[in-house]
Amino acid sequence: ATMPPLLSAIANAGRHGVLVKSAVVMERLGQVDQVAFDKTGTLTEGVPQVDEVRLLAGSSLTGDELLALAAAAERPSEHPLAGAIVGAARARGLAVPAAADFTSEPGTGVAATVGGRRVAVGAPARLAGDRGAALAERLEEQGRTAVLVEVDGAPAGVLGITDRVRPGAAATVAALTALTGTAPVLLTGDNPRAAGRLAGEVGIGDVRAGLLPQDKVAAVRAMDGRVLVVGDGVNDAPALAAAHTGIAMGRAGSDLALETADAVVVRDELAAVPAVIDLSRRARRLVV
Ligand code: ADP
Ligand code: MG
Repeated sequence: ATMPPLLSAIANAGRHGVLVKSAVVMERLGQVDQVAFDKTGTLTEGVPQVDEVRLLAGSSLTGDELLALAAAAERPSEHPLAGAIVGAARARGLAVPAAADFTSEPGTGVAATVGGRRVAVGAPARLAGDRGAALAERLEEQGRTAVLVEVDGAPAGVLGITDRVRPGAAATVAALTALTGTAPVLLTGDNPRAAGRLAGEVGIGDVRAGLLPQDKVAAVRAMDGRVLVVGDGVNDAPALAAAHTGIAMGRAGSDLALETADAVVVRDELAAVPAVIDLSRRARRLVV
């Protein structure tokens, strides 16, 4: 027997490394009018590296102590930045102490008690105090994500973190623009300087930065037409759910993303996104 077109499209999508969860999703992919990308872990590889450790004037810590405290606070977090910070501490051979009272605020950062000290790690703009702001801005202008480390309520240092753009990101943006007739947008919780720099590299003109998870949802709802959101589920699971169709990057993606999204790019290749839209359209032409 011949397979129904949408089912063979699902099989084909699988060959492109995309797990499409149902025939309904396979059909919807071809209806998309515009695409919105998350940045960290989606357009970037999601394997960020700490390449700057800077102490603020007046801090009594060493760079290694700062990094060890930050790593201790980040260890329970699933965020790619947390992985970078813990990995950097391990690479320097530092002992990462145990943390208690861990809390995490999506799109903002984490806090925990480490050896009796309260440690907060997160976006410089959202943590109290602006003493690190000038330093953070300088790192961000170079395309880095700057993360402020506060100890007992006082800014102690800034970590500069770099994440590589995924290979093929620019070609994918161009292909999606051609397929949908509308340029993709970038929705990110990261700072406008680092976001703008990455957007320029991949050919995205419309950049919405500094967004909290609920801001990403509002941005998706405010866009015209049927929006495909491509994310990694870290701080963007609500946007994946609010979209007409949500695709998660599988390898960097959180468990929540794999559950929330309509489809998962298992092999983590961005080129698979325009490929499945194209497959959907071909299948729908055969169905109609
Ligand atoms: P994106 O939209 O680029 O994927 P997120 O929304 O996940 O970014 O995070 C936005 C910003 O919030 C990060 O750039 C960082 O400044 C801060 N942040 C979020 N989670 C953490 C964390 N675990 N540790 C440090 N900073 C964090
Ligand atoms: Mg992300």
